Amino acid sequence: MRYTIVVAIVIAAVARTLPADESQESALPWKAGVASIVITPERPLRMAGYGGRTDPADGTVQDLFAKCVTFEDQQGQRVAVITLDLIGVLAELRSAVVEQVSEKYKLPPQAVLMNASHTHCGPAYGRDDAKDYFEQLTQKIVRVVGESIERLQPVTLSYSVARASVAMNRRTPSATGVVNHPNPFGPVDHSVPVLSVRHADGELQAVIFGYACHNTTMGFLKWYGDYAGYAQEYLEADHPGMTALFMMGCGGDQNPYPRSELKFAKHHGRTLATAVEAALEVNQGTLRHQRPVNGPLRFALDTVDLNFAVKNRPDFAYPVQAIRFGNDVTLIALGTEVVVDYSLRLKSELSRPEGPAIWVAGYSNVYSGYIPSRRVLLEGGYEARSRPWHPDLEERIVKKVHDIVGQLKVTRDERPED
Ligand SMILES: [Zn+2]
Repeated sequence: MRYTIVVAIVIAAVARTLPADESQESALPWKAGVASIVITPERPLRMAGYGGRTDPADGTVQDLFAKCVTFEDQQGQRVAVITLDLIGVLAELRSAVVEQVSEKYKLPPQAVLMNASHTHCGPAYGRDDAKDYFEQLTQKIVRVVGESIERLQPVTLSYSVARASVAMNRRTPSATGVVNHPNPFGPVDHSVPVLSVRHADGELQAVIFGYACHNTTMGFLKWYGDYAGYAQEYLEADHPGMTALFMMGCGGDQNPYPRSELKFAKHHGRTLATAVEAALEVNQGTLRHQRPVNGPLRFALDTVDLNFAVKNRPDFAYPVQAIRFGNDVTLIALGTEVVVDYSLRLKSELSRPEGPAIWVAGYSNVYSGYIPSRRVLLEGGYEARSRPWHPDLEERIVKKVHDIVGQLKVTRDERPED
């Protein structure tokens, strides 16, 4: 209550001294800036994602993008959320970007989230024959971060969620073990979390939306963003001036079905874009549907050592990041190809009736094979085979998430009251 009164006095004071629209903007709880750049390779390069393709890409069906939203709270703290139509965020790419944005824009590593859509129709940019592309890509990502900071302006944020059933579990038990095949009875996470950014006049500036599913509708030799590329394209076409950013979730064991025809990628994209529209629709009754997002920003990034069930293989330093938007949203970003069990478990363990909404992204900040849950590892199958992990990896990761989320407490005095 004390906070509310202080804020009301400050707003009243500002309103007396500024013209109406300026005072309206000054009262907004956030600043945000948005930028986007095409990262489609300009020459033929080998493609990432499927082992069988040895020829380079021979054309473009849809451009690939790097996009960034920088958020600034009322205390001036900033976080940059970068989304990429790429297979993953290689450690080399992240370090090159983080080094430059920390030097140029004073953004520390914990304030930089990099997420890849896991499109299987993007470049294999870590290869020796793509070094020129890697360099251009790095510069372009640094540039979108810089442009998003230059464009910081007063905004409001809100959070909402809808559902889409594009994803199906792809682990099917059989007499010979778990096989890679659509399993309509396996676990899924069909939620579509949406963080929307609006100008003072209510106009949408950006939406960041999540979904947990491989971008593997097609395996041809064309650049394109798959269903996530189409979802972003459709949303941007339907909301001129708005930027749509796709945040890949814990879709390590999830595929879009049906597959193998381009029309299905478009259908899936339209389905997901429609789910985002559902999340944005305000006339659904309760505040909980469209949740106003207040500050302050809190963020943390740490690594947890994952060990292997084989001798002499060094531990893997696995990155776990969390960004908390006041008491309204906590965005957890896990590294590389995380299976769906992680988002289901973390949302269940961390959600509180009066606490922030929990959003769990995968494919963030590093790309280095699958992260099975204990269940998936013990069951075996494709996602369990990529690394000989020790079965305690799930407990280690979950404990680290609890630790860093616990560090991001927002005190009661910092929370605006309803
Ligand atoms: Zn994958």
